[in-house]
Amino acid sequence: MRKKWKQYQRQYREKKRVLAEVLNLTPPSLNSIEDDQLIGPPEPIVVVADHDYVQPSLERPQASSTPVRAVQKSTSKHRAVLKEREKLRFELIKIKKELKSERMKAKKLQRKVDKLKVNKGKEVSVRNTKRDKKKIAEEKKERVVGFLCRDENSRMLSGKKDTVTKNKMKHQRRVLLHSLKDLHSNYNTTALKHHAVSYRQFLRYCPFYVTQAKESDRNTCSCFDHDNFKMIVDRLCQTNSISELLDTIVCDSTNQKCMYRLCKCCYNEVEFEGPLHDSIITWEQWERIVVTLEEKKSAKD
Ligand SMILES: [Zn+2]
Ligand SMILES: [Zn+2]
Repeated sequence: MRKKWKQYQRQYREKKRVLAEVLNLTPPSLNSIEDDQLIGPPEPIVVVADHDYVQPSLERPQASSTPVRAVQKSTSKHRAVLKEREKLRFELIKIKKELKSERMKAKKLQRKVDKLKVNKGKEVSVRNTKRDKKKIAEEKKERVVGFLCRDENSRMLSGKKDTVTKNKMKHQRRVLLHSLKDLHSNYNTTALKHHAVSYRQFLRYCPFYVTQAKESDRNTCSCFDHDNFKMIVDRLCQTNSISELLDTIVCDSTNQKCMYRLCKCCYNEVEFEGPLHDSIITWEQWERIVVTLEEKKSAKD
């Protein structure tokens, strides 16, 4: 122990002596300052100190007051230190570069993670809305089909031949009792808000076995009275929907009292908007002609 301590002491003293020599000999020169500035990164103090003293000693002119031997000794020692220092500096620069690149990588990854997080949220929400939309569309279709198949809106044809088959599904035909436009507006007023549909959608959801009355289904809604009245309405009223016209002259077309002319509010006054122009308006009407069978036969001949 003691020996070791002695050795340390000696080394310390030696070092101190060398430092003192160097300090005495060389005032800090411009060169050393420049070098200091070149060394960017902070370094261990010992190394810096060594450098401060070593650098000038290397450039020190021969004609100095220090003994040559001491100078040589110190320079050889400090050259080694300098080499070490240079090595450390390079290592430091290398490590710094690595650190920088690693940091860049981390930043890139973080950005990727952030992007993924945002996209994930979006995808989930998009999927949710898509599913909801699909569900609501199915509900809407169900409601429309149910609405159109109600007996107040369509009538099932009773004939055996009155069937349609689509996709191997056989259905008894139904004939609409009102125009699709009327039914559409009627549906929208009775349906829930989020089940409201556009006219186009309404037509699309209408099942294939529910159709408007054809010529051959004449007995449904184009009877003598209905057709005549419709022809008048078509020409005289601004609307060509009988249901709409009805709504303008009664309080409530779904109220039995109003429709039976028993309601006190809408019993007396029947007001409806006439034609826009005062010009003469003509319309066609069906007429009943009594024809006996024999006359008909003779007419044919
Ligand atoms: Zn009728
Ligand atoms: Zn009324």
